[in-house]
Amino acid sequence: MSKLFRWRGSLAELSAAQRAELSDRSTSSDDSVRERTAAIVGRVRAEGDEALISLAAELDGVALQALAVPRDARAQALATLDAPVRAALERAAANIEAVHRAFLPRTTELEVEPGVIVGRRPDPLDSVGVYAPGGRAAYPSSVLMGVVPARVAGVKRIVLCSPPGANELPSQVVLAAGELAGVSEVYAIGGAGAIAAMAYGTQTIAPVRRIVGPGNAYVAEAKLQISGVTGIDSPAGPSELLIIADASARATSVARELLAQAEHDPRAAVVVIALEESIARAIGDAIESLLASEPRRAIISEALAARGALLWSESLEHAIAFSNVYAPEHLLLALRDPDAALEGVRNAGTVFLGATTSVAFGDYMTGANHVLPTGGLARSYSGLSTLDFVRWTTYQRVTPAAASDLAASVATMAEREGLPAHAAAAREAGRGGERASGEEKGSATRSRGAARARATLRDLSLYRPNRAPSALDLSDNTNRWGVPPFAALALEELDAERVTRYPSVYTPELKEALAHYAGVRADEVVIGCGSDDILDSAIRAFAEPGDTLAFPNPTFGMLPIWAQMNGLVAIPAVGIDALLAARARVTYLCSPNNPTGIALTRAEIARVVERAAGIVIVDEAYAEFSNDGWLGEAPAHPRLIVTRTMSKAFGLAGMRVGYATGAANTVLPIEKARGPYMVSAAAERAALAALRNDLEWVRAHIDAAKESRARFANGLDAAGIAFIPSSANFIFVPVPDAEAIATTMRAAGVAVRPFVAVNGIGDGVRITVAPWPMMEIALRALRDAVKR
Ligand code: PMP
Repeated sequence: MSKLFRWRGSLAELSAAQRAELSDRSTSSDDSVRERTAAIVGRVRAEGDEALISLAAELDGVALQALAVPRDARAQALATLDAPVRAALERAAANIEAVHRAFLPRTTELEVEPGVIVGRRPDPLDSVGVYAPGGRAAYPSSVLMGVVPARVAGVKRIVLCSPPGANELPSQVVLAAGELAGVSEVYAIGGAGAIAAMAYGTQTIAPVRRIVGPGNAYVAEAKLQISGVTGIDSPAGPSELLIIADASARATSVARELLAQAEHDPRAAVVVIALEESIARAIGDAIESLLASEPRRAIISEALAARGALLWSESLEHAIAFSNVYAPEHLLLALRDPDAALEGVRNAGTVFLGATTSVAFGDYMTGANHVLPTGGLARSYSGLSTLDFVRWTTYQRVTPAAASDLAASVATMAEREGLPAHAAAAREAGRGGERASGEEKGSATRSRGAARARATLRDLSLYRPNRAPSALDLSDNTNRWGVPPFAALALEELDAERVTRYPSVYTPELKEALAHYAGVRADEVVIGCGSDDILDSAIRAFAEPGDTLAFPNPTFGMLPIWAQMNGLVAIPAVGIDALLAARARVTYLCSPNNPTGIALTRAEIARVVERAAGIVIVDEAYAEFSNDGWLGEAPAHPRLIVTRTMSKAFGLAGMRVGYATGAANTVLPIEKARGPYMVSAAAERAALAALRNDLEWVRAHIDAAKESRARFANGLDAAGIAFIPSSANFIFVPVPDAEAIATTMRAAGVAVRPFVAVNGIGDGVRITVAPWPMMEIALRALRDAVKR
């Protein structure tokens, strides 16, 4: 067994004392550090900026002209950063943002008893300080780990402090990372002085509410000393890694993981527990042979000799039990079934599942936070998260009826505690409640107040398009060419008996017909009450409340509404890159897009399908008018859902039949999210008839719509009216004042849909394409309205 390690051998044979010694990584804080830190903190508190400037001269050897790092120096640091480093930092920052956004704390409210409502809301701290060490410990990754979660939590003022180098500025890479992560202020100050300045404030630096970030012994001590006035994170000590490895792990990769953590610091603690003695020996051999070529081998050897352990145990339970006592900062489960082992894990800062989940990935790139509890503090603390940057406000409301009901119990408790004024106050509130309830005439039972809807629905208003009757309605992109004949016949001949029974549970017959139309299998289709229903259900099927929904801006107006209905965070984005950068749980595309009529290229859609972080929904409500689409291809892409509708090209909007294609496993959760019996018996018969016998009519309708669209476009050109060339059955015409134009056109008997302040376009009206004689009327009405 490798002699490099302080502890070697069987875990079972370690004595209790040896286990305790191995687990003890406590660092006793040295009196001299404590005293010197207290002196620095005292000086900064008393003298402010002047003390910071003298400290920079004394400790950093720099004659500082100014504490604040000017904005242009920060921008310059980012602009001159090596492109590959910048790309890696941006990738890391985006992942950190996505993870921390998903883990944001949320408001919870409950009605404890009828009329007694208690809520808790996370409020971002108004300011936060992030400390970044200088010199060789200047880690841009740690800057991202502190700043990005603070910003995601909603902190408005984020201060970064880092010691100055010879040029009076903090390290360029620290400045660049701060700029990229979104800091508000940067100061070139370091050590205990910086911590004191952020805690107490100086002439230049306003105090902050919480200070986070790693630092040397003085920084850690200063944080402890100021912790009575400002919040701090848990102290970050030397790195730690515990690895549990079975025969599935390669000895070399386990050895590499161990060397990586040990190179941090001679006080780093690394422990391997192999599940067989031979595995432990192989890992020991691998470490010995790799060590010789390690540039930081001196540090590594020192760490292994001081706190390294190479152990084996044939029992996974014993290994986990030891880890739970040891409470490592990092725990790597290099096991065949790491998930099963994870269930038993307690007290680890973060857990790496499987041999390919290198700790280095978590240190830099996965988006999980790498600021983690060390020294056994993982028994009581968690890693840095957005929770560190919010504080909770609880609130409570007692309705009048509930007040009269609560009063007696409260008075009893208050009297028992010898607080008669409390009892009197409760009774008074209760009497107020009785009076209020008495005023509700005729209500014999106790009023329980209004029903409380889900919080996300409370400020959502009902969808209210202006559907006032109009001689010619071109406002909703539906069919003006008449009823598809076989669908009409099916409705006329509908066996009335059908309506006395439930329709089919999941519409298998219609699924077959749609599958045939789409060129997919029936189990790759899901049908709903309009594609509205499918879109809402698909979003709900793949996102939990609090998840993100990204969509283009502009697009179909229901997207923000569905986000709100389902408690999701809406991310409107401009352009494919911005959509991808959102890394949303659900990414929505609309092609051709409503309201612009612009179709995305295949390459654009392919890029989103390949790169998007979560599920991709391509809404092809209007695809029949553009001769293109992904309908038949969706099942080949496990994360793609393509939605279509029979409301547009099939002309059956009133029947409410929409559908989606995707891999069978992808459409199944949508079916589950909708529940059974969502397509009425009448709709099913009409849709089936249309698919079986009206395809000629549909083709003719599409051709006629395209022809009418082209003529209308020519008419607009001739009238000198600019418009957006469309691939759909509508045309978007930018106008200066959409509401006024729509009102004028409505007065002339033509209803169009006004859009106000469309992102990147401005106002405009959307006009549904209809048979030419109607379009002629619309053109005239538009021309007249625009002229006025
Ligand atoms: N997607 C888009 C882009 C739409 O414009 C519409 C309706 N206008 C729908 C979906 C919903 O259509 P339906 O529910 O009628 O299928």
